[in-house]
Amino acid sequence: MRELYGTTACAGLALGPAKVLLRRYSPLERIVQEPLRETSLFEAAVVVAKDEISKLVERASDQDKAIFTFQIEVLSDRGLLDEILGYIATGTGAAAAVERAAGIYAAKIRSIPDEYLAQRAGDIQDACRRVVDILDGRPRERLVLTEPCILLADELLPSDLISVDRSLLLGIVTAGGSTQSHASIIARTFGIPAIVLAGPEILSVADGTSCGLDGALGQIIIDPDEATYARCAHRIHLSRRRSLSLEKLRDPPCVTRDGERVWLFANCSGPEDIQKAVDLGAEGVGLLRSEFLFLGGALPDEEQQLSFYRDCLRAAGGRPVTIRTLDIGSDKTVAGLTAEEPNPALGLRGVRFSLAREDLFSIQLSALLRAGLEGPLRVMFPMIASPEDLSRVMGVVETVRRQLTEQQVPFSDKVSFGIMVETPAAVLMAEELAREAAFFSVGTNDLTQYLHAADRVNPAVQAYFTPDSPAVMRALRMVVEAAGRHRIPVSICGESAGDPDTALLYVRAGIRQLSLAAPSLLEVKARLMDENILMG
Ligand code: PEP
Ligand code: MG
Repeated sequence: MRELYGTTACAGLALGPAKVLLRRYSPLERIVQEPLRETSLFEAAVVVAKDEISKLVERASDQDKAIFTFQIEVLSDRGLLDEILGYIATGTGAAAAVERAAGIYAAKIRSIPDEYLAQRAGDIQDACRRVVDILDGRPRERLVLTEPCILLADELLPSDLISVDRSLLLGIVTAGGSTQSHASIIARTFGIPAIVLAGPEILSVADGTSCGLDGALGQIIIDPDEATYARCAHRIHLSRRRSLSLEKLRDPPCVTRDGERVWLFANCSGPEDIQKAVDLGAEGVGLLRSEFLFLGGALPDEEQQLSFYRDCLRAAGGRPVTIRTLDIGSDKTVAGLTAEEPNPALGLRGVRFSLAREDLFSIQLSALLRAGLEGPLRVMFPMIASPEDLSRVMGVVETVRRQLTEQQVPFSDKVSFGIMVETPAAVLMAEELAREAAFFSVGTNDLTQYLHAADRVNPAVQAYFTPDSPAVMRALRMVVEAAGRHRIPVSICGESAGDPDTALLYVRAGIRQLSLAAPSLLEVKARLMDENILMG
């Protein structure tokens, strides 16, 4: 029996046989032909790879679609293709040339300390590996699970998780990876216990070895002895019983012991997870991160956005949906749109980007105003730092409304406009902002980052990232009081709202609306319904 530790990507327990996903293979059997022949083999392989990825796009979720669309673009990137062709021209075999160019490209991107780019590097390697597999005659459906297992891998790529039967995936452990990678995001969306940064030792585990996993602790127990195995199995049994017992909480409203009503909404990324959240009892969507639509590289036009927003509203079935306007910049970069910045978390992100690109902003606002005819829609602006930001943004809304009226395009006049309170400046100016905004939503991820000067994606300063600190709580109370004076609703939509203890603290500080990851909804609800809030 051995214990290893990594970083939590998704909490939860799992017990089952290991399946190790190793991608290294020897290129020794490859026979290199003359460059002209290798060039045509390479070009044909690219065509096949793009075709295969297009098929994956067809059956992917919206979020995954963006990833695969990006991979198709990688395989059309002139710079990368020329680099590969250059290697082939000097006598390198096509497969080795692709591996080499992909490795160099990905390493360059990884050397930039940027979490978002790190996951893009994974996408580049994923697309190139498909070409290599085609050239080597290997099957591309690499990850086929036939029985429930805990997957151990060096790093998981988006296509690994999209093609697999996720019901067989009991848990995931990666030697590298990051909590912000696409694979971690997918794991959280589906509630699969996952651990990243567990180190290369996990790759030496033999297939079939029994493993226990505690996602919350970041703990992997390899080959547990009988007593430990029994303990793990018992904990899983208890946790299943707990989930079943929580199901009865789906329908009743969340009311604390002392009669305070708390509204629970979900953080979502598209129509599919909205549907799931509604099934878990979410009363609406408190945060829809619209930037997921843009991360694939190709810019969605107004009609594409309109249809996406409409689908989201339909999936919510008449419940309110809060869509946040584009929040790119910082760790969410988009090739060709966002610029490289020396300190991106303090850079051109959120509405700062939208105000700098009014052309894109107007298209998004126009699509949102039109989609508002489909159901109750709230639009939320990220990274507002002053009343001037808000008036500038509302100025653009007015212009778009005027244009739609002139063009006789139907749109809703019932859409309400609110702001994320996620900068310390917005907290200090909450009084003034509450005069103009229809609602506040406190983004504790960024508010904590900026209040404590602790980069949210830097593991070295995680101890300083404390979303329940006295400083955050004081800021929260200021926001609640300002919102109360102006009678506007205030919610919290940061990740910490998904933690029952922290959620309770927030409610005790006066918050009555929380928006959280859907898998945490019933746990948080149970906790709140079991507590007194006012005299707690
Ligand atoms: C936040 O900052 O708390 C938030 C919800 O937004 P994001 O995590 O997308 O920055
Ligand atoms: Mg934020």
